[in-house]
Amino acid sequence: IVAGPCAVEGREQGLAIARAVERAGAAVLRGGGFKPRTSPYDFQGLGLPGIQLLAEARAETGLPFISEVMTPRHIEPMYPLVDAFQVGARNMQNYELLKSLSDVDKPVLLKRNPGATVEEWLLAAEYLLAGGNDQVILCERGIRTFNTVTRYTLDLATVALVKRETHLPVIVDPSHGTGDPALIAPMVRASLAAGADGVLLEVHTDPAAALSDGYQALRPGELAALVTEIEELAPLFGRRLAAAPTPPASPTSSERA
Ligand code: PEP
Ligand code: MN
Repeated sequence: IVAGPCAVEGREQGLAIARAVERAGAAVLRGGGFKPRTSPYDFQGLGLPGIQLLAEARAETGLPFISEVMTPRHIEPMYPLVDAFQVGARNMQNYELLKSLSDVDKPVLLKRNPGATVEEWLLAAEYLLAGGNDQVILCERGIRTFNTVTRYTLDLATVALVKRETHLPVIVDPSHGTGDPALIAPMVRASLAAGADGVLLEVHTDPAAALSDGYQALRPGELAALVTEIEELAPLFGRRLAAAPTPPASPTSSERA
């Protein structure tokens, strides 16, 4: 289970959510520093300082983290900080970005573009693999259909299909996929049943005040309940919940600095 805020909004918010994610029992923290927003007038993220805050949260909680990279030019400054790179739905076919990430020795989570066919998605993954990065994780986050009552249409049949057709780990993002916190738990259960290897969940300590995607955020208590439920359900599907790494005894001097 990968969980965290849509965007890192500040020190207090970032650290509070990271602690809640760790307490809930998730294995990986997520958070955006560079945010691809539909409107240029919306909060664009804190940039690199936001990612530095996630590194601080990792030092405290022991949780590795993933953050979105939007341009090849940000790979170098992000590289020493992040544990994995997220390529967002909007950049799934940004081939220069994919080529640049193909020789990076860190995992890349490749989100499916809402308008992409399975073939286009897998060929985008192929850019990473062909360039030598074999740590590719696919992420289904909903596609665009005629249905407008959910934010997107979560394509879980395709999750089962790409599990069959590829050797890659596949995770599901029901937060963007539904845009509705009440639909997240049922879609997490369904993802497990469909064979997904994980889920990516947005969490906020104060969803109403969030600077992005607050309406779809789980509260920490909801996340904790969901983690407990998945821990119980996973063995029915021959899976088990990956535990969070043990937090470090104390931050190292370089991390403190
Ligand atoms: C996100 O993970 O916050 C995000 C922007 O997702 P997507 O790229 O799937 O829209
Ligand atoms: Mn988001």
